[in-house]
Amino acid sequence: MSFTSNIYNYTLEELEDIVVRGGLKKFRATQVFEWLYRHGVDDFEMMNNIGKESKKYFKDNFACNILKIEKEQISIDGTRKYLFELYDGRFVETVLMKHDYGYSVCVSSQVGCNMGCSFCASGMNKKERNLEVGEMVLQVKTINDILKREGEERVSHVVIMGIGEPFDNYDNVIKFIKIINFSKGLEIGSRHITLSTCGLVPKIKEFAFFPLQVNLAISLHFPNNELRDKYMPINKAYKIEELIEALKFYFDITNRRITFEYILLDGINDTKECAYQLIDLVKDMNCYINLIPMNEANKIFRRSSEENTKIFYETLIKHSLNVTRRKEQGHDIDAACGQLRIKRMEKNI
Ligand code: SAH
Repeated sequence: MSFTSNIYNYTLEELEDIVVRGGLKKFRATQVFEWLYRHGVDDFEMMNNIGKESKKYFKDNFACNILKIEKEQISIDGTRKYLFELYDGRFVETVLMKHDYGYSVCVSSQVGCNMGCSFCASGMNKKERNLEVGEMVLQVKTINDILKREGEERVSHVVIMGIGEPFDNYDNVIKFIKIINFSKGLEIGSRHITLSTCGLVPKIKEFAFFPLQVNLAISLHFPNNELRDKYMPINKAYKIEELIEALKFYFDITNRRITFEYILLDGINDTKECAYQLIDLVKDMNCYINLIPMNEANKIFRRSSEENTKIFYETLIKHSLNVTRRKEQGHDIDAACGQLRIKRMEKNI
């Protein structure tokens, strides 16, 4: 028995190296890549421009198509949520959203999460393991193939905002981005890819040197150390001042405008005082603020009232910040991160 590994773990260059070492012609790697990503064919036997010997080589050494759809839920607004089963029986969630600018897929990067943010459903279960590169690639590819079969447009945007902290799985996430961006792969434009982090400062600095022009979003959520310490444990390791300094460094190197995500929690961070602290914190930065309605996945927090949300929003606007309010999608199918997986684990579905 030879060792088989998920073919979606590899960039084209890596695959070329492997097949050449296995005695095959280099171009076989490109052919297989095109079958997988362009034609949505994931059975080596059906790749009919590849000789018998080469097919055997691929079959002996690689596996494909190892994400099983355990459950699909479709919201009245068209948002879909997938619960995928991984090869080891673990589960991961992926969400497909339809926008006026196209389809976007929200990808998970880990099974569980260790960041422990108290308002987040994903963090209610500790990290069990990192997702492999191919497991992230397959979340996008599987959904892209489904859309293709339905005659729909392809996936045009990817956000790494599902379960997990992408910067806690840095190397795999970087390779995943390269593969989905690659022209012979899924060809997701780098400016259409967004990575969201709760603020792992050293990785933000490292990411500044990543050559692709990917968008960076920061889960800020609180404008001072006192609140952030209380609800986001990562702030104990990296204080707000360090985070802001790292983001300024990132901007100096990349010239790319970052987005701050801010969930409005009733009575906690939606006060006028918090709005002014937030303004002070970011006023000399080139950034967007995205105000997010709390998904009441956990009962400790409540979402901010419409009135307070409006006041908060208008206060920021008055101080010339670039602010958007995120529209909620897929509310009826618990599309916010982590919820479906938790239900599956509780055997409710
Ligand atoms: N670990 C990364 C990415 C996953 S979380 C990060 O922290 O950014 C993706 C986004 O969903 C983050 O902005 C996160 O703060 C937000 N989120 C978590 N729980 C939420 C909830 N209950 N309601 C709304 N947004 C939530």
